[in-house]
Amino acid sequence: MSKVAPSRVPVLDLLPEIEDQWDDLMDAIRTVVRSGRFILGPNVGALESEFASYLGVKHAIGVNSGTDALVIGLRALGVGPGDEVITTPFTFFATPESISTVGAVPVFVDIDPVTFTIDPALIEAAITERTKAILPVHLYGAACDMDPIREIADRHDLQVVEDVAQATGGRYHGTKLGTFGRAAAFSFFPSKNLAAFGDAGMVVTDDDAVAEMARKLRAHGSIAKYANETIGYNSRLDELQAAILRVRLTRLDATNDARRRIASWYTEGLSAVNGVVPPHERPGTEHVFHQYTVRVIDRDRDAVRDRLADRGIDTMVYYPVPCHRLPPYETSVTQALPVSEEAARTVLSLPMSPSLDASTVERIVGAFR
Ligand SMILES: *Cc1c(COP(=O)(O)O)cnc(C)c1O
Repeated sequence: MSKVAPSRVPVLDLLPEIEDQWDDLMDAIRTVVRSGRFILGPNVGALESEFASYLGVKHAIGVNSGTDALVIGLRALGVGPGDEVITTPFTFFATPESISTVGAVPVFVDIDPVTFTIDPALIEAAITERTKAILPVHLYGAACDMDPIREIADRHDLQVVEDVAQATGGRYHGTKLGTFGRAAAFSFFPSKNLAAFGDAGMVVTDDDAVAEMARKLRAHGSIAKYANETIGYNSRLDELQAAILRVRLTRLDATNDARRRIASWYTEGLSAVNGVVPPHERPGTEHVFHQYTVRVIDRDRDAVRDRLADRGIDTMVYYPVPCHRLPPYETSVTQALPVSEEAARTVLSLPMSPSLDASTVERIVGAFR
């Protein structure tokens, strides 16, 4: 018997999940193509009501991307020039970028070192008379600590806008993420837990006025065609993506359960490995493991990453540079954000796809040992 080298383990493998859903996905695509309606048609409407009821919110508004969902959500709340929005620098660039896009200023607050989400104890010191909103990011699929965040927001009369791009289906004290703020933004980018075959996103809210404004903004500032009331965007969701997302939404809880199962295998295996800190699930929350991200301590993270690559295990660093150290913000943000900087140096995201099997996880854990 010839010895075959084990194949590489990619960070993300989208195809097995697509294969599982192949017939339903192809039927959905064929139906849209035959209908001849491609933008904001019946599938978008159906996805919006199915997604709203999945979360338990009144309104869901389909848009072109998660980034647009943040921009449109912020603008629908009236956030604009002169306003400050409190968020963390340890996130994808789209989070602060959306704040800047609406003309407001992101004010960065550090994260807590265990969950990588905004540290509520640091929020109040960052509030000024210009502060309009707090924008917590449920990073890697982990819930932010929403009770103290909401309490602070209520006390200072601030809006809360959640960035749920990485945590669709996650929960905090039994309630789905995206239902805690006045508005929330979701991304259905192909790598996210609920994934389209292209760019797509959703704004959700319980507020009728915010929903109406978001609907206007996504379509050139108009509800009725050619009755443009405000300067908006071309951020309509298309029928193909909506039809695909409707199929995939029915499997989301199952694929999130699979991610949680894989995470538990990883954590069990890695608990005996020195120098690796597995992710922490805050009690009372349900982490949906968009990423399984460990912290590498007492060792050079990039060297560990290279050694794993030598053994055929691909990993990623989300994010190697915190947003306040990137060119658009580095000159204006002068305060130290040491926990975010430390996280950028030590985090490592391991392969995570709902189809990952126990023996592959064992191989990855073995490579760590
Ligand atoms: C993916 C992501 C976004 C942006 O979503 P897109 O659909 O890629 O525009 C925003 N915030 C976070 C935290 C993300 O991970």
